[in-house]
Amino acid sequence: MDGDGMKACPSCGEIRPVGEFMQNRRKCRKCLKEYQREYRLANHEKIKGYYREYQLANQEKIKEQRREYRLANQEKIKERGREYYIANQEKIKEKDREYRLANQEKIKEKKRKYQLANQEKIKEKKREYWLANQEKIKERQRKYQLANPEKYKERQRKYINRLSDGYVRIMLRQSKISDSSPEVIDLKREQVLLRREIKQFKQEVGNGTAGTGDL
Ligand SMILES: [Zn+2]
Repeated sequence: MDGDGMKACPSCGEIRPVGEFMQNRRKCRKCLKEYQREYRLANHEKIKGYYREYQLANQEKIKEQRREYRLANQEKIKERGREYYIANQEKIKEKDREYRLANQEKIKEKKRKYQLANQEKIKEKKREYWLANQEKIKERQRKYQLANPEKYKERQRKYINRLSDGYVRIMLRQSKISDSSPEVIDLKREQVLLRREIKQFKQEVGNGTAGTGDL
């Protein structure tokens, strides 16, 4: 039936060059493709089931294959991720925002747990970061302070009010004050705050941005 390189497709009835057939297939490529498409559509659930079963039975193998693929294609994956992010930035940001809004409590709880479990690591990381970026951080603080004097003052107040009594007691001892009654502790807090405000004021004056209203 494929006498001079031609073959008849039983599905569409056309007589086509053998090149348009896959080896050992009766239907032509076009019909085969159509048939596969219809089969997939008609057996969507069944195919999904097979796939799930396969995944379940080969979890370890699949994991290992993925790991190998990731290792061998690190750069490609990174590049693809970057491209995807750039192309979908707005969508991703919006999704992120939505997720965070809907899962505020869950996220907080997760963060709390992580921080509790990694206290030492976090402390060490912070210290390392600070050491490596001291100048940058100080400069940023100075700029923030100058640009937002009221906010900065408010922050300082909050920070100092949060200092534990024990910590303030140590400060008192360093200043050779033996009385550490609650009143004295509060006074010390006020003093620390005042000192910081004076320092800030001096900086503002030094920079020529201080208003005379504060005087
Ligand atoms: Zn055909």
